[in-house]
Amino acid sequence: MPSVFIKTYGCQMNERDSEAVAAQLVTKGYSLAKSESAADVVLLNTCSVRDLAEQKAINKMKNLVGTAKKDRPNQILGYMGCMAQSRGKELIEKLPDVDLVLGTQKFHRAAEYLDELLAGKREKIVDVEAEAKSEATIREHLLNGSAKTSVSAFVSIMQGCNQYCTFCIVPYTRGEERSRSIPDIVAECRQLVSQGVKEITLLGQIVTSYGKRGFGRAELPLGQDAQQRVPTTDGKSPFVQLLEAVHEIRGLERIRFTAPHPKGYDDDLVEAYARLPKLVESAHLPVQSGSDRVLKLMHRGYTRDRFLGIIKKLRRAKPDIGITTDIIVGFPGETEDDFEQTLSLAREVQFDNAYIFKYSQRRDTPAAGMPDQVPLKIREERNHRLLETVNEIGKRKYDAFVGRRTQILVEGPSKKNPARMTGRTRCNKIVVFEGAERHRGQLLDVKITRAGSFTLYGDPAIVNL
Ligand code: SF4
Repeated sequence: MPSVFIKTYGCQMNERDSEAVAAQLVTKGYSLAKSESAADVVLLNTCSVRDLAEQKAINKMKNLVGTAKKDRPNQILGYMGCMAQSRGKELIEKLPDVDLVLGTQKFHRAAEYLDELLAGKREKIVDVEAEAKSEATIREHLLNGSAKTSVSAFVSIMQGCNQYCTFCIVPYTRGEERSRSIPDIVAECRQLVSQGVKEITLLGQIVTSYGKRGFGRAELPLGQDAQQRVPTTDGKSPFVQLLEAVHEIRGLERIRFTAPHPKGYDDDLVEAYARLPKLVESAHLPVQSGSDRVLKLMHRGYTRDRFLGIIKKLRRAKPDIGITTDIIVGFPGETEDDFEQTLSLAREVQFDNAYIFKYSQRRDTPAAGMPDQVPLKIREERNHRLLETVNEIGKRKYDAFVGRRTQILVEGPSKKNPARMTGRTRCNKIVVFEGAERHRGQLLDVKITRAGSFTLYGDPAIVNL
């Protein structure tokens, strides 16, 4: 049977899509190759969020065409995901040795198309059309054999985004918001828990908008369960109702979600943190800028005050909550004063960590054509200054854990040193400790003895009690 190697660029959504494609192919009899040179099929799952990510995938494909395909002339090469969606057949026009271009609503067609290509029935396939109900097709998992997925799993709950932030290409590559039904998602989570999964992360481009569009009674599968679970408003957003439904699953220990939007943090969601014990004390709230003027240019839909108000409420509900964020520096028109406001917001919130990005012009997005594009040198300098501030705050936050006891869910051997084990705190911090394979999947209390750079170290004596 043919073997496949999938290389993934970009976010957790892409990781999840790749896993689903890999699982789909394994079910059809494909094996997973350990390297691209040993594979009959190589797929690059691409990201379009920054130019650098696109260039990496293009260079990788050129490299594959230039070297690997020379040794394996029958090897099938394909692009899938966001860049495949946005560039379509242009990718094959530029690199005629590419055989397949699979858009973001077509992952479930990977096996069918590869079979046709391998059998010589078709020479090239480009499919980037929209497909109704494709949001419900990312469902297969690769359990067993992956330490990460056997303890924790990612479940795709929706696709697309209607926020149209002016810097972001996602609404154009992932399409309109489309949500799966609650019973469908719960059934997938139940299945995962029955296979040993303890922690589920609900995934989507803007999960706090779950169920707000393209979701309704007509789309629910038939059956008694579906009848009982038709969402009603009742003061709770469909997303909070989904959290409640997943929370009911016996055997599931923890629930996370990503990526939310700050404007989706209404009181019902803040209150859910206090009310649902399986919903862990962790929130990734992408703020992007601390300046109201820039937030407006970005079309983010909230102000600095509203953002700070959400943080205050979350900390009131859960004082130990870990809060991380995404920030873009050098958005078109960002002045030194705007940037100073971002710095001051970072100091005021005291994020546990922040992912900082230098603004990257994405074609066809409104921000790409905005005046006053910020020169690269200034973007780099602001990136550096903000990073220093964020790292300093993060270090203090991590140091504050030393001497405390905290609960971790053990995920498996440490990537850097497989002789040690790693676990994750409820507030999403990695803890490395001298554990053993038997600890995998367990909830343990450990004493934190040392803090490194965004990693904590736990006391094995406590583990062995
Ligand atoms: S909410 Fe997120 S995914 Fe949607 S447009 Fe804005 S940045 Fe992009």
